[in-house]
Amino acid sequence: MDKKYSGRCACGSVTYGFDNPPTFVANCHCTDCKRASGGEMATFGLVASSDFTVFSGETKGFYYPKNSETCAGNGLTRVFCVACGSRVFTNELADFPGGVFVQEGTLDQLSEWFAPQAEIYTWSRQPWMPALDVPQYDHGVTAPAESADANAG
Ligand SMILES: [Zn+2]
Ligand SMILES: [Zn+2]
Repeated sequence: MDKKYSGRCACGSVTYGFDNPPTFVANCHCTDCKRASGGEMATFGLVASSDFTVFSGETKGFYYPKNSETCAGNGLTRVFCVACGSRVFTNELADFPGGVFVQEGTLDQLSEWFAPQAEIYTWSRQPWMPALDVPQYDHGVTAPAESADANAG
């Protein structure tokens, strides 16, 4: 486990790590994130899949098909621990090829959460949830150019 950042599921059987800070971090208020997390939103960071390693544990993926009203976009797979059901990361991102969304709630260090740079799918944010002082997007955003360059290199 020599990655700079690490995380785990609720039971601890699934562990993972990555070295480079996410190139994009968002609070997603979409209805898929609500159902998958059980909360009003999910906070996740985009990490290069080449930098992301699962160290241990058995995972299972649940595929979300194309949905323009949620962050599923053109499709993605949310991955969770088969033992405890904790949602850990999201892969097979049709809209962010070469990337993985890491669920920040699973990071080991509370002090190492990466602050959101945007809030997305705000059309389905609950009226009692205040907006952060970051760009707000009714729906999604396109892949940041920096991450595309980094992945290409
Ligand atoms: Zn678990
Ligand atoms: Zn979402």
